Amino acid sequence: MTLEQERWSRVKGRLRSTVGEDVYTSWFARMDLEGVHDESVKLSVPTRFLKSWIQSHYAERVLSCWQAEMPEVHRIDLTVRTAVRPVAAVKEVPPALDPRRETRSVAEPRPALTMQAPTGHDTLNGSPLDPRLTFASFVVGRSNTLAHAAARQVADGRRGDPVMFNPLYIHAGVGLGKTHLLQAVTWAGNSGTERKVLYLTAEKFMYGFVAALKTQTALAFKEALRGIDVLVIDDLQFLQGKSTQAEFCHTLNALIDAGRQVVIAADRPPSDLESLDDRVRSRLAGGLVVEMGSLGEELRLGILRSRVAAARAHHARFEVPEDVLGYLAHSITHNGRDLEGAINRLLAHSKLNNQPVTLEMAEREVRDLIRPQEPKRIKIEDIQRVVARQYSVSRSDLLSSRRTANVVRPRQVAMYLAKTLTLRSLPEIGRRFGGRDHTTVLHAVRKIEALVSKDTALSEEVESLKRQLQE
Ligand code: ADP
Ligand code: MG
Repeated sequence: MTLEQERWSRVKGRLRSTVGEDVYTSWFARMDLEGVHDESVKLSVPTRFLKSWIQSHYAERVLSCWQAEMPEVHRIDLTVRTAVRPVAAVKEVPPALDPRRETRSVAEPRPALTMQAPTGHDTLNGSPLDPRLTFASFVVGRSNTLAHAAARQVADGRRGDPVMFNPLYIHAGVGLGKTHLLQAVTWAGNSGTERKVLYLTAEKFMYGFVAALKTQTALAFKEALRGIDVLVIDDLQFLQGKSTQAEFCHTLNALIDAGRQVVIAADRPPSDLESLDDRVRSRLAGGLVVEMGSLGEELRLGILRSRVAAARAHHARFEVPEDVLGYLAHSITHNGRDLEGAINRLLAHSKLNNQPVTLEMAEREVRDLIRPQEPKRIKIEDIQRVVARQYSVSRSDLLSSRRTANVVRPRQVAMYLAKTLTLRSLPEIGRRFGGRDHTTVLHAVRKIEALVSKDTALSEEVESLKRQLQE
């Protein structure tokens, strides 16, 4: 190995340890050293996309890793190499004359469907919007007042207005109106001509990114994304994959730093988005985080009325008597989708049979929509709070590294409950308990499992904690 190659492998080692294994393999694994001349180092990557990505995100990191090995280095030149490297040394060709510079890698042929391949711009048409999901049809009640007000504020903003809370992060369980609210923001925001509001599901975001990667238009994708005023992302919990997350993170940072508004919905709070990087999580938590609770009976009644009104626009003779509305609002407690489904059924039934809607018919038609209450979403914070209260210790004791018996047992119980009552993984639970290792959590879970089978007092205690949490 030449001295240069040796240095290069040490630089790679440094890079790997500063950016972490995942980032390293995503972006740097295919970076090669072309040569070192005095103050500058020439590196190459196989695609233009990698080049622009590394230049915009990691240029300084790469430089400082070189400087740690060779302080005299002051410049990194990054080029796109052709797949078949000529035997002749690259460095002898002056860069300006080198025909291989910036040419497309033959190792990564264009996709067969070039004609239909999305460009950065096409991928950004946004996800389809449902014309019914507007502010006009959104019913405000106790559980969503704050989320609604914040969404309204965002929708009413004008280009250049100071951004009050960024990102606006709305979370709630299924069917509680997240998508409705986000689409309402998008409709309202785009009805003036001045601002561009883009609504994307996390899947669309991923699809756009992956498609752009394939056609190497990621830069265009990124640019287009950054050219919008409000970015609305729905169902963030589905965002997966390290490189997509990295892209999401950079987009988020770029938009927020540029004073653009970001609105996000997910089925859980930022702290529970396990697969996301810590920095993204804290950025998400740094704006306004609003939870929408379950729909109260009054709100359900409001939603039903609004649905009936909407249906009557097309079916003027469709009427739902008050007692039926009351019955539905009282018994369909689950979510907004079932309310919508119930009205659709009544409509279908009354049309097909040409009969008026009655209580009796409603009871029959919606029987299967009436289900027992969904178990409550239990959060790790709640578990810590309830356990701390039960054992008269503080929540910070539970998270601390103290090992006295009066904290160790409650902490183990809390970890055990976190494992059995939530879907969180062991490493996630460890992280939420003061950054403990997943093996510590596993140990605690096993320990309590073993104890409850023998120790009735403890077993009753655990049951009582579960009941308190599920109330
Ligand atoms: P999520 O995205 O949270 O799963 P959706 O926004 O898709 O829920 O809502 C499910 C259904 O309930 C939709 O038909 C929606 O219009 C309706 N809905 C939920 N909350 C409200 C509300 N506050 N006002 C009117 N309709 C609502
Ligand atoms: Mg939704």
